[in-house]
Amino acid sequence: MQKLDELYAGKAKSVFTTDDENLLILEFRDDTSAFDGEKIVQLDRKGMVNNKFNAFIMQKLEAAGIPTHFEKLLSDNEALVKKLDMIAVECVVRNISTGSMVKRLGVEDGLTLNPPTFEFFLKNDALHDPMINDYHIRSFGWASEDEVATMKRLTFQVNDILKKLFDDAGLLLVDYKLEFGRYQGELVLGDEFTPDGCRLWDKETREKMDKDRFRQDLGDVVESYEAVARRLGVDL
Ligand code: ADP
Repeated sequence: MQKLDELYAGKAKSVFTTDDENLLILEFRDDTSAFDGEKIVQLDRKGMVNNKFNAFIMQKLEAAGIPTHFEKLLSDNEALVKKLDMIAVECVVRNISTGSMVKRLGVEDGLTLNPPTFEFFLKNDALHDPMINDYHIRSFGWASEDEVATMKRLTFQVNDILKKLFDDAGLLLVDYKLEFGRYQGELVLGDEFTPDGCRLWDKETREKMDKDRFRQDLGDVVESYEAVARRLGVDL
C-alpha cells in the first residue's frame, strides 16, 4: 500500500490518499486539542496509543456486526481505512450526565440516564458544534431520513457492545461520540473510538480516565489512556 498525498489535516489526525482510490491512511498524531481547537498540546505517545486503541475497538465492533471503515493497522501511528463520504454530524450517546449536558440543562453531574440520551451535533468548530435535531439534518439535506435512523440504531448498538466491554474492564462508559460516512451505498462507522472522544470513569472510584484529564488539567493524560488500554487487553 502506497501512501500518497495529504488530503486533510484535522486536529488530531491526518488523512492521506493511497494508490487504491477506495482506501485512505489515517495518521494519529500526538496533537491533543480541546475547546474547539483553542487549547492544543503535543502529548508523547498519544498518537500510538489512540491508533492501537481505535483498532482494538473497531475490530470488536466489526465482530459484533457494526459496519466500520477499519481495514488494518499499518504502523504505530497509521491505520488503513475505507474512504468514506463523511456525514458532518456527530452522534452522541450519554449513559451518565456530565460535561456540556450539565451546563446546558442545569442537571446534576453523575446521574445515571435511563434510557441513555441521544444527541446530534453539527461538526463545525467555528460554530462550536451546535446541537441539532433530525429535522435540521433532513431539511438541510445533510443526510436522509433512512440514514438518520441508521445512525441512531448503530450508535445505540455500539452502546450495548461497548458498555459491556468496558464494564468487564472495571470502567463506566459515561458517553461517546461517533461519526458515520457512506461507502458504496452503505452507512459505515468512520473516524475513531478512543478516550479522546468518549468519557470513561473507573467503576469503583469514578476517577476520570479520558480526555477530561486534559480539558481539566488533571495530568497523566496518556498514562490514563494506557491504563484503560491495558485493562481492555490492547496490545500497545
Ligand atoms: P477534526 O476534523 O474533528 O479535527 P481529526 O483530526 O480526527 O478531526 O481529523 C480526521 C478527519 O478525517 C475528520 O474530519 C473525519 O471526519 C475524517 N475521517 C475519518 N475517517 C474517515 C474516513 N474513513 N474517510 C474519510 N474521512 C474520514
